[in-house]
Amino acid sequence: MTLFLAATATAERPLPWGWLIGALLLAAAGYVASCAWWPFTHCSRCEGRGKRSRSDGKVWRVCRSCKGAGKRLRVGRRIWNRFASVRDASQ
Ligand SMILES: [Zn+2]
Repeated sequence: MTLFLAATATAERPLPWGWLIGALLLAAAGYVASCAWWPFTHCSRCEGRGKRSRSDGKVWRVCRSCKGAGKRLRVGRRIWNRFASVRDASQ
């Protein structure tokens, strides 16, 4: 009897692939929707300020990464725009 219980307790259960793939698709859909809604994020180089200072803080210059805008396109939106430009070029 105890051997039977031990065997059923350690029996391998198959991974719930349907749930895993569903959760992954849901997360991907959420990311795409958020990229459509908020296409910009703050510039990581200047942290959204649009300018950078020297280490001593005396000289400020326009951020070269975002050209002073303080924001940049998100990766998902950049990929989307790339696909859109290819699609538009094909028409
Ligand atoms: Zn910047």
